[in-house]
Amino acid sequence: MESHKLWQAVLGELEVTISPANFRTWFKDTTILAQEDGHVVVGVPNVMTKDWLERKFNGDITGILGRINSGVKSIEYKVSSARRQSTATQAPLDPLIAAPAPVMAPLRPAAPIRQRSSAPAQSNLNPRYTFDSFVVGSSNEMAYAACQAVSRYPGEKYNPLFLYGGVGLGKTHLMQAVGNEVLRRDPDKRIRYVTSEEFTNEFLSAIRNKKNRNFADLYRNLDVLIVDDIQFLGNKEATQEEFFHTFNTLHQSNSQIIMSSDKPPKAIPQLEDRLRSRFGMGIVADIQRPDLETRSAIIQHLAAARGIDLSMDVIDYLARQYQHNIRELEGALTTILAQCEFKNREPSLVFIKSLIGNAVPTTRRRVVSPRTIIEKTAAYFDLQPADITGSRRDKDIVRPRQIAMFLMRQELNLSFPKIAENVGGRDHTTAMHSVQKILRLIESDEDLRMDISQVKERITG
Ligand code: ADP
Ligand code: MG
Repeated sequence: MESHKLWQAVLGELEVTISPANFRTWFKDTTILAQEDGHVVVGVPNVMTKDWLERKFNGDITGILGRINSGVKSIEYKVSSARRQSTATQAPLDPLIAAPAPVMAPLRPAAPIRQRSSAPAQSNLNPRYTFDSFVVGSSNEMAYAACQAVSRYPGEKYNPLFLYGGVGLGKTHLMQAVGNEVLRRDPDKRIRYVTSEEFTNEFLSAIRNKKNRNFADLYRNLDVLIVDDIQFLGNKEATQEEFFHTFNTLHQSNSQIIMSSDKPPKAIPQLEDRLRSRFGMGIVADIQRPDLETRSAIIQHLAAARGIDLSMDVIDYLARQYQHNIRELEGALTTILAQCEFKNREPSLVFIKSLIGNAVPTTRRRVVSPRTIIEKTAAYFDLQPADITGSRRDKDIVRPRQIAMFLMRQELNLSFPKIAENVGGRDHTTAMHSVQKILRLIESDEDLRMDISQVKERITG
């Protein structure tokens, strides 16, 4: 099969099995460079993608390639700038290609650190938020990798960087870590961190006080602009207009823009299309709810940072109690450790259980309706609710539809006829098969599991 067609077929299959954010991030600008005697060379745009495909997607890609073309025996990933060389303005050397080590590797202070030439540039970053103090697990490693890449090459690639995910999962921490790392490497960089509400308020007050020029000067001369919780720009027309110009000016002058939101750009309500498309123009990375292992590691890390050694049973207990939100987990741990100190007790399991007893928000669930499940599932997959309840059988609709049915069973315990009725009046055997299909796939398919947990988080959120 011709290389281009073959790769399109592989991408087609991958696209329905992994989340849209993952797909866009890791498969944009990939191609088959060569195939000979069953050896396929896949071209990728940079080292980070190469590393990621090798570690995370090689199994999937091999499987799909083998199915489509049984002659394929081995795959190799190669950094290739073939695609981008056609753009005349491209810098001659891609910094990520030239990077001495994969950007996934922990950063070492090996790069020359510039001495401060004058007074320190102003920044309002919290110095506590660094890469070192961030625990990496499967739920956040993609966002972490993207942030590290940006901190090394601000404004050069991955511009803008858009992070999204639920509350308390580390978005602010990671964005500020980028800022802190950029400053560590070059203290002269002008960096500003604002929430979108602060941006709005500053803008409105500038208008009131006729200081529009100062406002524009401040924001349009930055090296790095970090805007947190950008979903709140939805609905604010004048501010969106101003942000649009700020964004364009910064982007054109190769200043880095970093944004966070609780949802992907496409799902932010009342956001102008021109902003929506710009937000998704660079790299979009999501942060998911941490699994048990990552939560345990975070607890261990937080306790160690306070000089306290917790036993494994305590760590495990806490990790199981606090599942939804790391801020909540951090708060609980602080309270617990303060109590231990105050009462002069060891942090034993018995004591900790007596402290938190039933006060833990594990059952903090809203009552959800089948409609909510349909809406949230559709939104997560960039579809309309009518796609889920409708009759189209496209690949990229069938899977979300199955997931919605699965969630109705799992979250609401609905009967199969009831599920079928809610999803556009289908036959109850369809509902049954859909739920069984997801149950089967979930065993082996990590991406599906991640998608489902993301949707669930939005439903119960
Ligand atoms: P968000 O902005 O997504 O709501 P934050 O970045 O404010 O979340 O994170 C909430 C708290 O949890 C912060 O104190 C942050 O330092 C901590 N935190 C979140 N994720 C991690 C992590 N992976 N490792 C260490 N601390 C984390
Ligand atoms: Mg935040």
